[in-house]
Amino acid sequence: MARPVVAIVGRPNVGKSTIFNRVIGDRLAIVEDKPGITRDRLYAPGEWSGKLFSIVDTGGIEIDGEDEIMKSVRMQAELAIEEADVIIFMVDAMAGLTHADDEVAHMLFRSRKPVVVAVNKVDNLRRTDEIYEFYSLGFGEPIAISGAHGTGIGDLLDAVVRKLPELEDIEYEDDVIRVALIGRPNVGKSSLVNAILGEDRVIVSHVAGTTRDAIDTPFEKDGQKYVLIDTAGMRKRGKVYETTEKYSVMRSLKAIERADVALILINGEEGIIEQDKHIAGYAHEAGKASVFVVNKWDAVEKDEKTMQNFEQHIRDHFLFMSYAPVVFLSAKTKSRLHKLLPVVDHVSEQHALRIQTHLLNDVVADAVAINPPPTDKGKRLRINYVTQVAVKPPTMVIFVNDPELMHFSYQRYLENKIRAAFDFEGTPVRIVTRRKS
Ligand code: GDP
Ligand code: GDP
Repeated sequence: MARPVVAIVGRPNVGKSTIFNRVIGDRLAIVEDKPGITRDRLYAPGEWSGKLFSIVDTGGIEIDGEDEIMKSVRMQAELAIEEADVIIFMVDAMAGLTHADDEVAHMLFRSRKPVVVAVNKVDNLRRTDEIYEFYSLGFGEPIAISGAHGTGIGDLLDAVVRKLPELEDIEYEDDVIRVALIGRPNVGKSSLVNAILGEDRVIVSHVAGTTRDAIDTPFEKDGQKYVLIDTAGMRKRGKVYETTEKYSVMRSLKAIERADVALILINGEEGIIEQDKHIAGYAHEAGKASVFVVNKWDAVEKDEKTMQNFEQHIRDHFLFMSYAPVVFLSAKTKSRLHKLLPVVDHVSEQHALRIQTHLLNDVVADAVAINPPPTDKGKRLRINYVTQVAVKPPTMVIFVNDPELMHFSYQRYLENKIRAAFDFEGTPVRIVTRRKS
């Protein structure tokens, strides 16, 4: 199920990133805290009152070549209007209502998108009279919050989830591999879609599903059914999309949510940039299988080391996704294209792999025998048993005497041993520790 997107919009310095961090840090426990995952996240999966959503801090999205405040706020608002399902419009009680706030309010109002006004920096909750002037923005009752003290955040999220829409979704049978093509503009997503659909023995069904954010194309090859979830084809030709390439992020989020396998496209001619990392990080955190697809390989001058060096370049930049295979190809000349779908099949299989408990316990017992857990303040971690509780992604629960004693490095060691024994290529593996003495 695709998650609705909640965007935070507002002038610089009203406290957007403070609130964003509060929301993801305190209330939402989904974010994995592992070394190597990009810190300056712009979006995170969230949950409140049992409702799932993604939250985006549009303030963190830089405007290429723009530095004026009004322009940047206007573009954030434009983006939120295009892509978000609910907008948190943040204003500053200390600064009071400004002209820029009024202008943004007009844009949001015309869009008819659901808007919640959050009045930040109400550090003294008895002084809620500070919020009255913000009624004039026209979005109903403003919510008083304080990023500094963490107050009012629950009320804000209550108001937000009340406005979340039920998103339409297209359902597919379990035997269909859902493949999302993600990557920044111009990496060649549309070209790759066309190349795949034009391959020999590919049978495209005539019914193509369309959601608000993507075009789905079901097809079949050699008896395997797939659906391509393509966000590029829906690209708007508006101002925002031409002036900055960072705006593809939100749309990618929804495509990733709906997919089993994320094809993370990288421009072989240009190499890796920060935005590639954000997009890849989201696929990882969402628990999807991933394949790095280095496109435009025809345009790269090569010798016998080029591919190996480029793969190393990817490994250096995506430390936390060492499980994801890399495919080099050209959507334009179709060279090496035939290598792609077999890799998709393989990672999709690994994503759904279920390991029998006794096999898993044998591997973990061997790993512990070779390299026993280190002691911590005189206490030693004892592992009782391990069992796989979920697939897509494979999720293991390790029952231990004291979860606090499980250190990241030891967990990584066990994960590596499990991977060495069972493959799991292309898929994240989640490991959860629980107490059982
Ligand atoms: P952004 O530019 O909208 O993302 O704003 P930031 O989150 O970076 O916050 C701007 C400044 O406002 C920082 O110095 C914060 O410490 C401060 N700030 C954020 N929330 C509050 C609050 O609730 N009360 C007060 N007094 N200051 C806050
Ligand atoms: P999208 O924005 O990610 O959908 O990218 P497009 O598919 O529209 O491609 C952007 C540009 O890159 C176009 O000019 C394509 O012709 C070009 N392009 C796409 N794939 C390749 C490729 O494999 N090799 C080369 N040389 N150019 C490509």
